[in-house]
Order: sequence, then structure tokens, then C-alpha cells
Amino acid sequence: MTQTTPESDGPAAAATSTRPLVELRGVNKHFGTFQALADIDLTIPEGQVAIVIGPSGSGKSTLCRTINRLETIDDDGGLISIDGEVLPREGKALAKLRADVGMVFQSFNLFAHKSILENVTVGPIKVRGVKKAQATEEAMTLLERVGVAQQAKKMPAELSGGQQQRVAIARALAMKPKVMLFDEPTSALDPEMVQEVLDVMVQLAKEGMTMVVVTHEMGFARQVGDRVVFMDEGRILEDADPDTFFTAPQHERAKNFLGKIL
Ligand code: ADP
Ligand code: MG
Repeated sequence: MTQTTPESDGPAAAATSTRPLVELRGVNKHFGTFQALADIDLTIPEGQVAIVIGPSGSGKSTLCRTINRLETIDDDGGLISIDGEVLPREGKALAKLRADVGMVFQSFNLFAHKSILENVTVGPIKVRGVKKAQATEEAMTLLERVGVAQQAKKMPAELSGGQQQRVAIARALAMKPKVMLFDEPTSALDPEMVQEVLDVMVQLAKEGMTMVVVTHEMGFARQVGDRVVFMDEGRILEDADPDTFFTAPQHERAKNFLGKIL
């Protein structure tokens, strides 16, 4: 396996520190008898953009969902920590740590009955106890940043898919997360809207956000990724810098996969 050091190459890597923001150690996840994650060890340092790729069903979404505890992991000694704090199974400390992890899903699941602005303010107000006026001001700044401030008063259904996904990114950022997880954020979009969402993600990466991005957008992976993690059947098969991975994948399965998507 090719191991990437965080300080390896690429301009983005220069911003990477060695402080581990996300750490998985010996993580297993079963759904009944089916093992979706097998012995996952993964450390993501602050400022790193880790691209996760792999065939359908290889466990990419499950990996993201365990990092923000939408799924529990097997109770067999494995652990996940965020910025040095182990995710507990439940309780107040869990809610606090989860707030450190922002997530953007494939289907831009905005709250359909709230305005764009309310979608972004509700988390800070309800979870972080931010005053409405301040939450509104911060939300408008974020909506500006992702280019949809004009739409603040509209309802989600009035926006295009690309706009909705940018709102979803703003909503996640409003919680001031330490790390952002993106699970195929552009794969449900019409092709002409993919780039506007990727542009927002490129900008975030440039600003030094720590990101885990499940995507098949190989241009983005090569341009922005500091590292590619290739998953297959619940395992991490390769973990390499993008250039190495795309030009010289080590495993047959990785070669096969790349042959299909490139
Ligand atoms: P990917 O995102 O790489 O396509 P997933 O993480 O969604 O893969 O799924 C990995 C495997 O785990 C798949 O075989 C899927 O059917 C299974 N799986 C995911 N979620 C559940 C669940 N809630 N119950 C049972 N099986 C699941
Ligand atoms: Mg998935």
C-alpha cells in the first residue's frame, strides 16, 4: 500500500498541519451479518482534503455516516475521534462533537418547509444557542459566499439543484464545523450544475477546510485532493497521493475501477 504523508506534495498540502482532526482506528461496521466496514484505520490531518473513491457498495457512505455518527460502529474496540476526542456512543458530548462535523449529502436534503435563510439559521439557533439576529447575519454572509444570497427568502423547491446544494454547504458551514464530509455532492445534479458546486468546494479547500469528499469527479480529485483513499468491499485498499493513485494504482481492483470511470 502506498502511504501518503500529509506534507507530501501539491499546493494544498502546504496548508496541512499534522494535527489529526479525524481518526479512525480498527473500525468495523456490520449491518446484521453483512460487514460494511472492515478494519478501517484512517487519520486525516487538519487542512487535508481526502478523496474517497470506490465501487458502489464499497462502504464510502457508511464511512461518512459513521464519522458523524449517523451510524454507530461495532462495539469491538474500534474508535473514531474528532480533533482528539473519541466519539461517545450517545449523550451531550456526542451532540457537541457531531456539531464539529458538517455533512453534505448526495440528495440536497434541505428542510422543504423552511426558507433558504431559515435552513441556514436553524442549526446555529437550535443547537448552538446563537441569537436569531446574529445567526441571520452569519447566514447571509455564508449565502453570499456560495452565491445564493439573492435567494434567501425563497423556498428550496424554487431553487435549482446546484443552488440547493450550495445552500446545503452553507447550512453545514453555519455550524462552524472543524471538518466537512461530502458524500457524492454532485452526482444527483444536472451536468451543467456540477461545476458551480465544485467551485464552492475548491474555494473551501483553499481556505484550509479539512474535507473528506466521496466523489467520482476525477478532475476535482486531482486538482484539490491531497490524498486518494480507494475503498473496496468495506476496506481501504489504497491510500496514496492523487498523482500516484491515478497514474500507478497498485491493486487490480483499483485499476479495474479507474478503467471504468476514466
Ligand atoms: P457506497 O456508498 O460505497 O456505495 P454504502 O456505504 O452505501 O456504499 O454501502 C455499503 C454496503 O452496506 C452496501 O452493500 C449496502 O447495501 C450496505 N448497507 C448500507 N447501509 C445499510 C443499512 N442501513 N442496512 C443494511 N445494509 C446497508
Ligand atoms: Mg454512497
